[in-house]
Amino acid sequence: MCEYYTHRAGGLLAGALVLQVMNAPAQMWPGALIMAVVASAVPDLDHTQSKAQNAPLNELKNNIPIAGSMAGKIISVFLKIGRKLTGKREATHSLLMVFLVWWGVQRVWPAIPPPILYTLVAGLISHLGIDIFNPEGVRLFWPVGPKISLARVLPWPFTFKSGSRIERFVLRPALWISSMWIIIGESIISNTH
Ligand SMILES: [Zn+2]
Repeated sequence: MCEYYTHRAGGLLAGALVLQVMNAPAQMWPGALIMAVVASAVPDLDHTQSKAQNAPLNELKNNIPIAGSMAGKIISVFLKIGRKLTGKREATHSLLMVFLVWWGVQRVWPAIPPPILYTLVAGLISHLGIDIFNPEGVRLFWPVGPKISLARVLPWPFTFKSGSRIERFVLRPALWISSMWIIIGESIISNTH
């Protein structure tokens, strides 16, 4: 359970990596990156009703009007089901949730461009990937298995508590800088062609 802005930075990096690997066309990058950033905050949406936590779904609707509101609706439905089933964030932090969102989005939006679909999935996975470094861990294989945390096997500073200095001053800037490195590099390449 890392801070919201760390997850956004992680989502941006995951999205940029996916787009680079897929060799996605330049015009796809802005929408797909927004999707990745929004998706990266989704698993914690049921965590609190604060404005910051609910902002991603509104952003999705504002930035990608039709597709965004459809994807937003599906994600909200899954979050509600997850919360009902567990009463906690366990279901929303599982690989099953990632699979259901991936499956559900394609059912509702069959023509979804692959870069958008994969950056959405990458954004969700980046959230779980960051939270697994926290001592609280994530129940990755919900509804079975224990909570998994790398804090049990890795020494400090490779694991960190939510909001710690390592998270805010090392991990988060590193994620932003790596993302910008890829995005700026990509835009230079596409402008010189
Ligand atoms: Zn989380």
